Amino acid sequence: MIPNGKKLTRDEAKSHNQRLVLRLIYQNGEFSRADVARASGLTRTTASAVVSELMEQGLVEEIGLGPSGGGKPPTLLQVPPDARHLIGLDLAGTVLEGAVFNLRGQAVHRASVDLATGRSQDSLQQVLDLLDRLVVEASQPLLGIGVGLPGVIDSQLGVVYHALSLGWPQLALGDILHQRYQLPVYLVNDSQGAALAEYTFAREENIHDMAVILVAQGVSAGIILGGQLYRGRLHSGASEIGHVRVTDEGYPCVCGHDGCLDTIVGEQAVLQGARTIYARRPDSALGRLVRNADEITMATVATAYQQNDPAVLALGSEMAHYLGIAAANLYSVLNVPQIVLAGGVAAFGPYFAGAVEEEIRERTLPWLADRVTVRTSTLGEDAVELGAAAVLLANELGVV
Ligand SMILES: [Zn+2]
Repeated sequence: MIPNGKKLTRDEAKSHNQRLVLRLIYQNGEFSRADVARASGLTRTTASAVVSELMEQGLVEEIGLGPSGGGKPPTLLQVPPDARHLIGLDLAGTVLEGAVFNLRGQAVHRASVDLATGRSQDSLQQVLDLLDRLVVEASQPLLGIGVGLPGVIDSQLGVVYHALSLGWPQLALGDILHQRYQLPVYLVNDSQGAALAEYTFAREENIHDMAVILVAQGVSAGIILGGQLYRGRLHSGASEIGHVRVTDEGYPCVCGHDGCLDTIVGEQAVLQGARTIYARRPDSALGRLVRNADEITMATVATAYQQNDPAVLALGSEMAHYLGIAAANLYSVLNVPQIVLAGGVAAFGPYFAGAVEEEIRERTLPWLADRVTVRTSTLGEDAVELGAAAVLLANELGVV
C-alpha cells in the first residue's frame, strides 16, 4: 500500500517494491518471478528487476526449476534463511537470555546469564556483556538487535520507564545499544513480544485474535486483534494483568499493593513455593531433580509437575486457579478464541492449560466460555526472544 496515497519518490518506490517482493517470497517460499508479478501487481519487467536487486543484496536466491505449466519451467526463488542474522534478547526472567537467530527464527547461537542483582548499573552491564558475546557469534550481517523486556517502555523512543526487576527507573536503552553496536535497536514489551512471536511463528490456522499471557518475573499479557499487535495508548503498558489483585489475603507486591497475581504465579513466587516443597520433601520427584534448593528453576518445577509430584501438582493447581481468574477477566473483555500461556509455565503442558481453561469456564458467561481454548506456547522459553526477532523482521525487512 502507498501510504496516504502520496506520490512516492524514486528511492521510496524502490524500497517499497523491494519490501513487497521480499515479503511475498519470504511468506510463500518457492516463488517464481511470474508468481511475484502476479501476486504483487508489478509488471514482469519491474518484478524481475526488483528480484535482481534483492539477489545482489543476497536476500533472494534461485533454488532450481519448478514444474512446467506447458512452456519453459520457471526458476524458483527463496529467501535464504541465513541471508542475515539478528539478535533477540529476553530480559524478562531471573535469567537474562539471548540468541542469534536466522531469518526463520531458528537459533544459531545462544547465551544467557543469571540476573545478579536488581541494581541498575549491574543489570545494564550484564546486558552489554551478553550482547558482546552474541554479536561475535553472528556469522552473517546483522539486521539489528531486538530487546524484549518487562515493564513500561516507549518502543518509538527506545526508552524504558519502570522495569522493576532490572532496577531501571528510566533508561534510554535504545540509544545506549545503538551507540555501542551501531545497529538498529528495537525495544518491545516482553508479553507483547511473546504475542508477536506466537502470531508470527506458531499461530494456528484461522486464528487472528489471541491473548498471550506471559509468566516471567511478572505476569502480563500481549494481545493480537485482527492480526495486529494491540499496543495500548500509553507506553506499551496495555496489559499489566500481573498487578490485578486476585486475593484479599495475599502477600505485599513490589507495586505497593498486595495480593497481586504476580505474588502468586510470578517466577519468584513459584520458585519460593518450590523451595519450600523441597525443604519439606527432599525425596519427592522435585527433590530428585536437583542437588539443592538453589538449583530449582522453572524448568525443574515444570518437570516435577509433569511427573505428578503431589506437592508440585498442588502448587500448579493454585497457580492455574489464580491465573484463571485473570484469564477469565481478560477473556470477558476481549472475547478472543485463544489464550496462549507463554514463559516458564509453557513447560507445564496441556494439563495445566486445561486447568486454566476450566477456571475460565467457571467464571464467565457459559455460552461464551465454550468458545475459548487455552494452550501452552510451543515456542517454549524462546517466546520473548523470538518476539524481539519478529519486530526486526517487521521493521527492517517488512517480511512479517
Ligand atoms: Zn502488584
